[in-house]
Amino acid sequence: MKIIKINKDIKMIDINGVDHASFFIQGEKKNILIESGYPSETELLLNGIKQLGLTLFDIDYFMATHIHLDHAGASGYLASKNRNLKVFIHEIGARHLINPGRLNESAKRAYKNRFDSIGSMLPVSVEQVHPLQDLEEIDLGGNKLQVFFTPGHAKHHLIILEKNNKIIFTGDAMGAKYPGVPLYLTIPPPDYNKEQALNSIDLIKELDPSSLIFTHFGQLNHDMLKNVYDEIKNKHEFWCNSIRMILEENPNISKEKILEIMLKKTSILNSLSNETRKIYEQVTINSFNLNIEGVSRYLKKNNLI
Ligand SMILES: [Zn+2]
Repeated sequence: MKIIKINKDIKMIDINGVDHASFFIQGEKKNILIESGYPSETELLLNGIKQLGLTLFDIDYFMATHIHLDHAGASGYLASKNRNLKVFIHEIGARHLINPGRLNESAKRAYKNRFDSIGSMLPVSVEQVHPLQDLEEIDLGGNKLQVFFTPGHAKHHLIILEKNNKIIFTGDAMGAKYPGVPLYLTIPPPDYNKEQALNSIDLIKELDPSSLIFTHFGQLNHDMLKNVYDEIKNKHEFWCNSIRMILEENPNISKEKILEIMLKKTSILNSLSNETRKIYEQVTINSFNLNIEGVSRYLKKNNLI
């Protein structure tokens, strides 16, 4: 766990040093924590808050870009310890934070034997949840955040525009960006929808941000963004076309075989150096497995195969 300064008011908490982050923004009146990591990483997050010179009781607001466990996992714990904490979440996701039973079940299905190390979400009390509408603004005093609904990765996904610097917190809408690993998509079941994902990328581009901040993991500044939007859109087409062709050729093909083909097609593992391979090989394989399930489900649901 370490703290990375983005600017004087915005800090990134690198939660586990591998694959996801939380962000802290200080306004003149209120502060906010964005994204929380997995339930099992709550201690690391609290450690990060401590390194900022704060305690959980100093945090006014929490918001997650969506309710998946690597983004909102610790929200129940944070809210039950700090009863004054206000939790902002997409209006579709709100009821799942209040009653996380279905969310935990669906995470168990998605993460399979990894679920035990991820942990279950605790409920957030209904009085503490603020369901967000599209385009809603959150006033921190001297700075505002605005949320934009960006379905595609999940139907309850939103991105957060920080107004003073025009920084966008992308959640999973623009994929994952790890040091030394080519940018790749995170398109899991059950909600992945290509058309929505492409529209969400267009929306982010139109907002013309000064930089994008990825929950997984780090920052891309304006001069690096020119080609990124098209690159990501092409990756969506590539994944959907590839999986469609693989399944059309052999409808009974195993998940393991599809993984092997997709790793080869993207040659992602070959592009890793020895050092990054040690850290990111398993992270990449886990993501690819979820992507394969996400895309297969999307294609079937929309009668595309
Ligand atoms: Zn997600």
